[in-house]
Amino acid sequence: MSALIQVQTQNLPLLMVGAGRVAARRLPYLLQAGFQICLMDPRPLHDLPLEIQERVADGSVNFVQRAANLADAAVYSWLVLASNDQRLNQELAEASLVRGAMVNNASNAELSNFSFPAVVDKGSFRFSLSAKGLSPGLLKALKNRLTVLIPHSLEAVLRLVSELRPEVKKHFPEHKRALFWQLAMGSRVSEYFYLHRPDKVREALQTWLADEQIPSEGELYLIGAGPGDPELLTLRAVRLLQQADVVLYDRLISDEILRMSRPDAERIYVGKRKDRHEVPQEDLNQLLLQLCLQGKRVARLKGGDPYVFGRGAEELQLVVQHGLPFQVVPGITAANGAAAYAGIPLTHRDHAWSVRFVTGHRKPGASLNWASLVEEGQTLVFYMGLQQLPEITSGLIAAGLCPQTPVALISEATTGRQQKLLGELSTIVELQQQSQLPSPSIIIVGSVVSLSHQFAWFDQLLASL
Ligand code: SAH
Repeated sequence: MSALIQVQTQNLPLLMVGAGRVAARRLPYLLQAGFQICLMDPRPLHDLPLEIQERVADGSVNFVQRAANLADAAVYSWLVLASNDQRLNQELAEASLVRGAMVNNASNAELSNFSFPAVVDKGSFRFSLSAKGLSPGLLKALKNRLTVLIPHSLEAVLRLVSELRPEVKKHFPEHKRALFWQLAMGSRVSEYFYLHRPDKVREALQTWLADEQIPSEGELYLIGAGPGDPELLTLRAVRLLQQADVVLYDRLISDEILRMSRPDAERIYVGKRKDRHEVPQEDLNQLLLQLCLQGKRVARLKGGDPYVFGRGAEELQLVVQHGLPFQVVPGITAANGAAAYAGIPLTHRDHAWSVRFVTGHRKPGASLNWASLVEEGQTLVFYMGLQQLPEITSGLIAAGLCPQTPVALISEATTGRQQKLLGELSTIVELQQQSQLPSPSIIIVGSVVSLSHQFAWFDQLLASL
């Protein structure tokens, strides 16, 4: 059996035997393929599925109310056998296959010589999937996921490509054409599609055609990779990650996320090593610049959001100074990820009207403005505060926050290893001494934490697995 041959089926006569649910599911594909369909079933039309009644009413299908027999089948070269009567399906299939007809037998894949693969269909773009009949259900789920991943802009890409093909043909010899499209679609210009500006793409492609070359230019993608769960990456993050030539990452980035990059991409670890310190920030900035200057598309993956305690701006600085192109992709910051997965609404009309993201890790000598942190109606989220937990809690109590204020410590939030410690300002230090939750951990302070019992869906999910 081949999945690689496409057949022109416009206006070919096809006999469909049986007009039940299976037939109703297959009918749209057959109509899309252009078949002239005769549908046979002994039941009256008003007993058949509504979709079928509609297709008969609008004339797309010719309905004959009786059971099909061998003589009917004998005049058709294409047959779909979807009757409830399996013996009839078998009898018609055997006779038709012997004649060399094309047969799809819904009740027996062995007695078929064509099938209906799952089709991902988005505008002019279409591809089919097959799991060799092993799991139609799984295949359908996969198909739905893949369909969502195909950007809407692809239709515009296809139209533009077909429009410009004659010009490309004129400018480039055959062996260079494929390379041209490959480079063009992998270049910065393709970004315009995602911003729905095909006019800009046309402009750039025409310039390149006139110059008969595509400038290769490095670019930096500063990508927020979220707090851990790979499903929390944005579609844009995944797309840019998949086109990057080099990927730089640190310990906040999981293997699973890293594996979403191109298999042939170079991967560089720039986080803390066991025995050494982190790569100094200046060296890292310099490395990013050098890679871009070599014409590479460089993805720098940052945990959470690049602009929340992520030194994102510092890492862009040199690239900006050299006038090189860059993009910044926002990510779900640890506070948002931890709050959602631990069941803590950061604001709530009855509890908190503002949220503060605070760093527990300060430069030596710098001190937090405690008085501003204990104002009424706010939720406080401390990043990098695990080591400073005793100072944070005593500072807040000393500044006037009630010692019974609820506190949550959430570690490795959004991952399968997420743990949560619930306590109060006066008890959380001792609880953590006993539990020793590992880093990375985030601390949430405020009365919203008391809602965590109600909304802890992720704990329930983990417990139920
Ligand atoms: N840019 C990141 C923050 C980097 S600072 C962001 O937007 O999330 C590093 C701190 O983030 C850690 O010390 C910890 O407090 C917090 N953090 C990051 N990932 C976390 C996770 N999965 N669970 C809990 N805290 C996390």
